[in-house]
Amino acid sequence: MELSNSRPPDSLTAYVLDNVRCLIWHAYVFISSEEKNNSWKIKILNEAAAQCWLPIKRHPENSFLQDLYLACSPLAQAQGEVMFTEAFQHKKKRCGRQFPMTLADGSEIWIHEDVHLEEVQPDHWHIVGVLTDVTTHKLSEERLLYLAHHDSLTQLPNRGYLFEVLAKAPSQSMRYLLYLDLDNFKVINDTLGHPIGDLVLFHLSNRLRSVVGMSGDVVRLGGDEFTVLLRPDASKTEAQELAESLLQQIRQPLIVEGQTLYLSTSIGIAATTDLDAPSLLRNADIAMYAAKYQGKNRIVAFDSEMERAVRSRFELEGELRKAIDKDGIGLVYQPILRLDSRKLIGLEGLARWSHPTLGMIPPDQFIPIAEETGLIIPLGLRLLKQACQQAVHWRRQHPDLVVGLNVSVVQLMEETFAQDVIRILEETGLPSEKLTLEVTESILAEGCDPVLRQLWLLYEAGVSLVLDDFGTGYSSFSALSELPLHALKIDRTFLARAIDPSRARAERNKALIRAITSAAQVLDLIVIAEGIEAEQQASLAESLGCQLGQGYHLQRPLTPQALNNYLGQVASASVQDFRESLVFLRAA
Ligand code: C2E
Ligand code: MG
Ligand code: MG
Repeated sequence: MELSNSRPPDSLTAYVLDNVRCLIWHAYVFISSEEKNNSWKIKILNEAAAQCWLPIKRHPENSFLQDLYLACSPLAQAQGEVMFTEAFQHKKKRCGRQFPMTLADGSEIWIHEDVHLEEVQPDHWHIVGVLTDVTTHKLSEERLLYLAHHDSLTQLPNRGYLFEVLAKAPSQSMRYLLYLDLDNFKVINDTLGHPIGDLVLFHLSNRLRSVVGMSGDVVRLGGDEFTVLLRPDASKTEAQELAESLLQQIRQPLIVEGQTLYLSTSIGIAATTDLDAPSLLRNADIAMYAAKYQGKNRIVAFDSEMERAVRSRFELEGELRKAIDKDGIGLVYQPILRLDSRKLIGLEGLARWSHPTLGMIPPDQFIPIAEETGLIIPLGLRLLKQACQQAVHWRRQHPDLVVGLNVSVVQLMEETFAQDVIRILEETGLPSEKLTLEVTESILAEGCDPVLRQLWLLYEAGVSLVLDDFGTGYSSFSALSELPLHALKIDRTFLARAIDPSRARAERNKALIRAITSAAQVLDLIVIAEGIEAEQQASLAESLGCQLGQGYHLQRPLTPQALNNYLGQVASASVQDFRESLVFLRAA
């Protein structure tokens, strides 16, 4: 083969320039066993073309080949030497590698070198090598790697990245991890739509990035969950302070598409020296979960006690699933009486879980779990069916009896909730006006049209709606203005404080109850006093304008069997007469 430095025809140069971007070299090598250096005779076959696509820095005294060698980093040079030594030693027929090369303008390109070797005589080698520009390929590989490690919406690193960083972290170095989960983010998606939800996440992730700065890496785990991995030398105080700034910054109003949104987040903190990444993440998640449980919008640091609590919570969740399937959760009923005549008006059904080994589990313990897991949907429907069937049975004796049930916002978020209630009423034969559903003002915090739509559908179907635990939230009066309602229940704390030994306190609470009943009167709402534990409270509630009462002093919640006996002994008031006598303007 004739080795030539002469310029190839233009057409071939153009072809090489546009398509091939490769350099072909040929060498004859003699492996010297005595002398230290092997002897190399190298020629580049298409040097002119290669000079076009490989604009490396040139030195006047050097050949292109020498400059080519200098354009490789010392590391790439050393790697090349090792590759050839190995190939000669193991008598390889082929070897290859990839390495970066620096061009005259300082930019870097990636070269793939493919080498064919043939030992033509002992220690005499013929070699042909091809250098190809693989920068585009390398960049797309890097892009793929970037995509694999980054979230496409926020451009933040993702879970894969976090795990990789933690895997590479030297053990024994203390690392702090913050786990953030936005509070009630689902409501934004459900009410404003996913495109706005995405925008919110995008803006918030930028906020997180700017607060965290050089203190650590912000990672989006998915959905509305983020983590911040603090840099290795960060202290516990720094982790706590950073969490506080994040909490504060997320609370700042966010304007998206002309709407001002108020968000908050719950943050869990965990630390590790020797834990693996999944365990660190899980501990931070447990702490974050505890922050949610304690009322959201707060920071909680992980401790091992928490882990035990979570384990038992998960066990309880499993048990709850089984109990719902086996109809193991039933209702007790607390009578609601007229405060003037003490005649029975209605019943409030309260869920009770009688567990075979754990005993009686109160609703405060299992309803929140049922809400979080969505189990409240099947559970709520089963309880409603039970209540309606039992009410139909008791109404034979007390035709005007009204039965009430608590419903949570998770149930009202279901598009078919009103429809399901109406279906159950039809199936069981209970007239809609004999069913009362109790909601709390927390549904307004979720602030959404879907919930209001369900309430209006129920209202229009004739179901009575009661605002429960009135006065305990932030938006009691806006709840009165926005919700379709028939009655409100004053939270028991007001009556408890109205008989407080401190006169001033008692008077303030009496004044508050009076203000609530006056507002209710203007709005044609019945007022029910909750938590009447003493006769003094019953008469006080009546004198302050409450028409109905409920509490241990009047009657404790009763099992359906006990209620059968109770109903046999008491007289009930006519609900209709009662309403008419109070001139309640009920939408028919
Ligand atoms: P709530 O709807 O405000 O129910 C009244 C709670 O006060 C009941 O507690 C009742 O037993 C208790 N109570 C009644 N009279 C008195 C009294 O004189 N003094 C005191 N200290 N307490 C009294 P319970 O049964 O433990 O229910 C607690 C909460 O759990 C309920 O509060 C309600 O929010 C929720 N809940 C109960 N059953 C259900 C259900 O089926 N579905 C939903 N979503 N929530 C439920
Ligand atoms: Mg209630
Ligand atoms: Mg209540």
